[in-house]
Amino acid sequence: MTQTRRQFVQRSAAGALALSLGPLAAQTTAASRLTPAQVSALKKVVRGRVYTPGSSGYTSAARLWNTRYNGIQPPAVVEVANATDVQAVVQWAGRYDIPLVPRSGGNAYNGASTSSSGVVVDVGALNRIAVSGGTATVGPGARLLDVYATLANKGASIPAGSCPNVALGGHALGGGMGLAGRGQGLALDHIRSITAVTADGKIRTCTSSQNSDLFWALRGGGGSFALVTSFTLRTFAVRSAAWFRIFYPAGARAEALGAFDDLFPGGPSPLTGICTLTNSGAVIQGQYLGAQANLEKLIAPLRGLPGARAEVGTMSYFQLMRMWAACAEGASNQQCIDIAPQSFDASSIYVSKKLSTAARSAFVSAANTGATLVCDSYGGKINDVSPKATAFVHRGARFSVQIVSYAPIGTATSRVNSARAKIAKYGNGQAYQNYSDLDLKSPLQDYYGSNLARLRSIKGDIDPDNRFAITQGIRA
Ligand SMILES: Cc1cc2nc3c(=O)[nH]c(=O)nc-3n(C[C@H](O)[C@H](O)[C@H](O)COP(=O)(O)OP(=O)(O)OC[C@H]3O[C@@H](n4cnc5c(N)ncnc54)[C@H](O)[C@@H]3O)c2cc1C
Repeated sequence: MTQTRRQFVQRSAAGALALSLGPLAAQTTAASRLTPAQVSALKKVVRGRVYTPGSSGYTSAARLWNTRYNGIQPPAVVEVANATDVQAVVQWAGRYDIPLVPRSGGNAYNGASTSSSGVVVDVGALNRIAVSGGTATVGPGARLLDVYATLANKGASIPAGSCPNVALGGHALGGGMGLAGRGQGLALDHIRSITAVTADGKIRTCTSSQNSDLFWALRGGGGSFALVTSFTLRTFAVRSAAWFRIFYPAGARAEALGAFDDLFPGGPSPLTGICTLTNSGAVIQGQYLGAQANLEKLIAPLRGLPGARAEVGTMSYFQLMRMWAACAEGASNQQCIDIAPQSFDASSIYVSKKLSTAARSAFVSAANTGATLVCDSYGGKINDVSPKATAFVHRGARFSVQIVSYAPIGTATSRVNSARAKIAKYGNGQAYQNYSDLDLKSPLQDYYGSNLARLRSIKGDIDPDNRFAITQGIRA
């Protein structure tokens, strides 16, 4: 007998509760079970591997990079072999009315690429990177360091984040901010077309003129709308770039933050900077898509602060990507990508007004909780785009602040929440969807702001039954 969606969801109520509990999510949550008939039908239609609870390899296939979610047991994980498999899984899920959860790299902060009630569709194997002329066609499973490496061979790149093991899939669907951000925009700003399988099982090409509503929603709206099988992105030509890193003692943190806030977002767009505050000091680092001599002039005010120790240089663009990725010298790209999973909690705010003296002190006090504050400069090409042009609404900010703690989850969450409470009032009420936080009171409003209503309407048109049912996802 076919299991109905209601029975399926009821059986996973315990899992849903655990997801809403945030920090407790590492406890094991019983998986909803597929019936033997459903499993056998699934195995018949896909070429890739299907893992179900108890089967060999299931535990490792189920895991995300953040170990806080280790206890969540999906009813099945399908590691697709190709795009045809993706379509087959979506059609299978439609037949049995089973929720699906897309996964590319498994780095979701809020655990949205796992679930105790939805079948995980892992597209990690769709990681092909093809470069031609000024465009790159990239599978969602491609890791950022591999993307940078392949493009560097052609003297090109795309703007995206610095973490080597993040996959383009989740990254570009939520934004994609990195050290070329002010000069080139976000990863999603470079997307020219997306191929995706929608809840009706159809493969759709999405561009500004074809399936344009879906194209709009996918650029910033995340994994609630369709399963992406390929991106085509505009690349930019680059061979080398200048970079800097300036270290400050704990006593100079407020001044360092002030100097960072003075320089961005008004500074020239080829310069992107990140200011990191911890309880023991501060670092401002960044990248300049231009000559080192110009960079030296621009960062003179940052170097002049008490106790500042600066490093400045120029290097090949790919070596710079490896440096930002913290690859050990001599390590292969794969070794650099294979970072051991860790437990962490994070949150974020966006700052759109210049910080007052009181605000800078609050930031220092937030860093004294033990959480790390990572401020990414916005402006430049990021803010040249209208907040309505894509689903990514955060176009008017001076900088974003990621509040993060790598520690056992209870400690991490307490640090992050206490640090956030100290600085939230200096934010504009928005939060970055790629730094998603289970503890936000109104997460969808914070992630999507004035674009939320249109996202809900598109969800109603494209996936009215919520086939793609992710944590903190958009509902019609
Ligand atoms: C160590 C670390 C460093 C980071 N650094 C940066 C940074 O510098 N800049 C930045 O902007 N972000 C950064 N991030 C955040 C990162 O961009 C997000 O966590 C991103 O969502 C990860 O994408 P993923 O595919 O690896 O993760 P996943 O967990 O697989 O996916 C994340 C979300 O996207 C959905 N999704 C994934 N693939 C698909 C698909 N093919 N189709 C539809 N939906 C899909 C999932 O359902 C989930 O909701 C960092 C994350 C980590 C862990």
